Amino acid sequence: MAGEHAVKEPTPRAPELKIPRPSGARVGVWGSSKLVSVWERFQPFSHPAPAGRPPLVKGGIVGGVEKRGTTPGPDRRVWKVRVNKVNKDRLKVLYNYVIHKRDGNMPKGLLYYAEEWEKMYENVKHQREEAGKRTPPKAPPLPLLVRFVMPDGQVRGNKNAPAIIDLRRDELRIPSYGIAQKLRKSLVRALIEENSLDPRPDFVLQVTRRGLIRVVAHRRLRARLELPLRIATIDENSRHGHSLAHWYINETKVAMAGFEKLRPANHGFRREVAALLQSFADKPCEEAKRQLAKFLPPEKLETLTTERARELAEKTRGREKRLNSDFVCELVAKVRKLVREAVKKGMSALILVEPIDSDSLKGTELQGTLLRGRRRLKSLAVYEGARVGEVGASGKVCPRCGTKGVEVVHTKRSRIYECPKCGLRWDRDKGVHYNMVYNYFARMVKEECDDDSVLAERVLSLLREWLEKHSHTLAY
Ligand SMILES: [Zn+2]
Repeated sequence: MAGEHAVKEPTPRAPELKIPRPSGARVGVWGSSKLVSVWERFQPFSHPAPAGRPPLVKGGIVGGVEKRGTTPGPDRRVWKVRVNKVNKDRLKVLYNYVIHKRDGNMPKGLLYYAEEWEKMYENVKHQREEAGKRTPPKAPPLPLLVRFVMPDGQVRGNKNAPAIIDLRRDELRIPSYGIAQKLRKSLVRALIEENSLDPRPDFVLQVTRRGLIRVVAHRRLRARLELPLRIATIDENSRHGHSLAHWYINETKVAMAGFEKLRPANHGFRREVAALLQSFADKPCEEAKRQLAKFLPPEKLETLTTERARELAEKTRGREKRLNSDFVCELVAKVRKLVREAVKKGMSALILVEPIDSDSLKGTELQGTLLRGRRRLKSLAVYEGARVGEVGASGKVCPRCGTKGVEVVHTKRSRIYECPKCGLRWDRDKGVHYNMVYNYFARMVKEECDDDSVLAERVLSLLREWLEKHSHTLAY
């Protein structure tokens, strides 16, 4: 990575510091002439932070595709907390106070990360100067220490933390600023689960300059690749959605333990409406209006102005984005569940993705969605302790002998292929998952990485054995 040269080694922490200060803010060096994206500068170190605590990472790609700060970095999970108007205003006061008007009277806990924040901000500013951007950068969120009160009354986290998340009363409190915010049930449940993980993640609260709050959990687990092993395979497919399969492999057998298709929403209709609205906004004419009559009620059409049309077009495109992001969330949640279950049982976990690399997707909203999905799977793997890899595979190739198959049945639901050489029949959508696992371990054997290649040989022979006995599993 280009950013590595700009990364300082983290200095060893003083042993008396119970909770080490985050080291993410040390990333990047003043006066460096290298043009490294802000995102890269804030990537965590490639080795564990001292004392096993992960460094603080800045979320989001600034100046890149993802400008929102909530994008998870490579080893963290983020939850947004909904806050009411009063609390939002108080949080803004808190933010500005810590950032601008620091004095001797502040509770020490509030200033815990203030220095890191300043360095982070300097970095962002410097980065923008180097890139020749004139507008001032947005001030990054302020990290705060947080402690949790668990449902059984047990307190977890730093005793001096200015923020308390009370999972007994379902609320978040920052007493020094009179903030008490009720938390939604689903968030409370998620935070209880997250606090019960072993090893427990590190938590930090982020207050944004606009008075919003996020809870951020960091964890970085070492992933093993041993038997028994659970593999989640994801085939990206633009037209038919993704498919997700999972595999169980132990010393003596392989099994395909699940297969499902996940479809993103169909945006054809939405796109058409958005395009019509946009064309009306750009150049209002009767023809556009006539076409819009198919989608809009007459009273709305009557009063449609160019401004309103532009607004509606924007809204429609926003909905497409949201639906796509829901799709990614669903996929990630399913994979997380699979990995967590496996790791809990002491199994290893592996996530494999067959990425689409189609030119036709370039620059589209869907491509952005797929990239976000892949990035989130990588983050998930680090956080949950799974291996992750991309692997090329085709559903048209015979799983048994690798010969290119011929399509023999084509229905709306399935495309069945047959091998002209060995006669095997398989469903293209399922065959690709077998080929992914096979190719991944075949590549490992080729690379001859000592221990791993012994395991890989074993898995390959188990896979072939499974295919002989269970070829029907792939066929329908
Ligand atoms: Zn064959």
